Amino acid sequence: MINDTFYDIAIIGGGISSCVFSSFHLKNGYKGRIAIIENGRNLGGRSSTRNSISNLGWQLNHGSPNFNICNSNNNVMLKTFIKELLDSKIIQSDPSDLIKLYEDPNDQNKLICDFHSCQNYISSSSMSDLSKNIINHYNLKNQVDFYFQTLIVKLKYENNCWILTSKNGYKFKTKFLVCSSNLILHKRSLDIMNTNQIPLRQAIPINSDKKIDTILHLLKNQEYVQRLTFLIYTKSNYCYKDDYKKRFRYFLLNNLLEEKFKFERIIFQKQINNKIGIVIHTRNKKFITEYFQSNNKNKFKNILLDNFNQIFDKNYYINKLIDYQDISIMIWRSSQPSGLGIPENLQVCDKYKIAFCGDWFDLEGFGRIEGAILSALKLSYKISSLD
Ligand SMILES: Cc1cc2nc3c(=O)[nH]c(=O)nc-3n(C[C@H](O)[C@H](O)[C@H](O)COP(=O)(O)OP(=O)(O)OC[C@H]3O[C@@H](n4cnc5c(N)ncnc54)[C@H](O)[C@@H]3O)c2cc1C
Repeated sequence: MINDTFYDIAIIGGGISSCVFSSFHLKNGYKGRIAIIENGRNLGGRSSTRNSISNLGWQLNHGSPNFNICNSNNNVMLKTFIKELLDSKIIQSDPSDLIKLYEDPNDQNKLICDFHSCQNYISSSSMSDLSKNIINHYNLKNQVDFYFQTLIVKLKYENNCWILTSKNGYKFKTKFLVCSSNLILHKRSLDIMNTNQIPLRQAIPINSDKKIDTILHLLKNQEYVQRLTFLIYTKSNYCYKDDYKKRFRYFLLNNLLEEKFKFERIIFQKQINNKIGIVIHTRNKKFITEYFQSNNKNKFKNILLDNFNQIFDKNYYINKLIDYQDISIMIWRSSQPSGLGIPENLQVCDKYKIAFCGDWFDLEGFGRIEGAILSALKLSYKISSLD
């Protein structure tokens, strides 16, 4: 089926970079129609929230729980954008406690986490709402159409127009294409989409454009950190030992503890009904492989509880977890790009009316929300100056 609307811009992906790009573009006076096409059920991508159907009322941020901005290059666009989000109360400074856990107390200076340095912010509501609120702030004339549960698997460029085909056979036409995720440019798309050629390569044959060739070549060497997040829905009688009132409480494990217990971060997320959700992140390759290969997923829930209770044994703030209402698991096959970032001069390819944004560019904040936002602001600026 072909969508009748001929979009001026179609964006593949509805993560934070896509939302920032659209919002900033509209703010700067863009008059065209925009489509945001997202595989998931809502906005936010890796910075989103699990609204569990089996655990109604719970909202757990299962990807990034908050974000940090360093902006050591003093990028004025970024600075102004963050100030606007603060002024409009879409975000606020993160007042949460961050507690670093060490096995050896003499080790204390060594725990540095890229995700918690500099200035930290939280969404005033959930992380999925952050992306939604960013768009709504400037989508005042309803120029943006949203398509969810729509995975784009095929691209075609003909007669100066892009035709995108989704897995369920839906087609979109657009004058300009923005890819906010590099999935359709990366070798991991071959498995995920069960195809034998990377979709962008299929659309633009080799030697047609130097920028496209370079980006595809460089992406061959971009690796990804896998993560699992365990979401624990505690029982209503579970509480802190102290009277901590803030929404979040973060615990970071140093390398030795992470190696021993396989956990990277433990994030306590207080719910509106005062129950406490616990989200545990792991990136331990061996643990993740064992999880995938195991036929007994309950075994991991037991390990989880044992490790949790050992970590917080004798802790001043955290009670043992004897029982729980439910545990669900989120698998992030590619939670964060690592190694090589893509040079930002490859963001726009005017010849083929295609552009890119996301945390995979070699900008301050590579692999983080800061990088995703910065790439989106820069992209809007670059595209505006083409017109
Ligand atoms: C567990 C975890 C913890 C994290 N912690 C932090 C943290 O503490 N601080 C921090 O700054 N960052 C953190 N990050 C990283 C942060 O979440 C990302 O940097 C940021 O969300 C990237 O945003 P993005 O818009 O570039 O990409 P994404 O959020 O990945 O958005 C891209 C979207 O495109 C969609 N998509 C891809 N291909 C297609 C297709 N073909 N068709 C349709 N849709 C498609 C995807 O479904 C996705 O929603 C964390 C990530 C994870 C997973």
